[in-house]
Amino acid sequence: MRIFLASANAKKIAEMQRILAAHVPDVEVLGIADVDGYVEPVEDQPTFAGNALLKARAGVAATGLPSVADDSGLCVDALNGMPGVLSARWSGSPHGDKRAADERNNELLLAQLHDVPDERRGAHFACAVAWVMPDGGERVVEGRMDGRIVREQRGSGGFGYDVVFVPVEHDAAGLTAAELEPGEKDRISHRGRALRELAPYVAADLS
Ligand code: IMP
Repeated sequence: MRIFLASANAKKIAEMQRILAAHVPDVEVLGIADVDGYVEPVEDQPTFAGNALLKARAGVAATGLPSVADDSGLCVDALNGMPGVLSARWSGSPHGDKRAADERNNELLLAQLHDVPDERRGAHFACAVAWVMPDGGERVVEGRMDGRIVREQRGSGGFGYDVVFVPVEHDAAGLTAAELEPGEKDRISHRGRALRELAPYVAADLS
């Protein structure tokens, strides 16, 4: 049994594969790199759920395989919920070197929040995961991870905004998501929560 995961982000694919494998054994997960000439759709929807569905539907259209896609981002209270669906391109183009784009995004975010006091640095990651079957069946689940934005980048794990985000579960120790073991991040993350909710439906649809 094969499914398609509509993402080109290697770290995100690894994170999603790790979580799905625990619930759905014996499934081969193909990513965008496995499909010759795959053209990613423009993510032009105003919500995470809308973009996740758009990506999963495009995956089914291109591969004929049951497809899963996520859309996620960071919502910062002091920025009225931004960058939100614009997280990947907050400092400009998200294309090219992902690490360089992450670095620019984090530097911009920290500069924007420079004068925001500690008690108003709340934020959350949000994730919508869409599952679309070739027969037209669709399901979307959502998850979130609450926390706060710190004042300097810390840690070398994870990706994206992990280096500036301390989840509530690790507030006392002040650990950023980039300082957590991958398994611990999966346990508390927006994506982990959404994927664990989706996994039984994927298993049922593939059985
Ligand atoms: P997407 O790939 O279109 O879903 O964009 C996700 C954006 O949100 C990228 O800028 C990521 O860096 C950021 N993002 C999403 N999930 C996470 C996470 O778990 N940690 C850090 N950044 C994330």
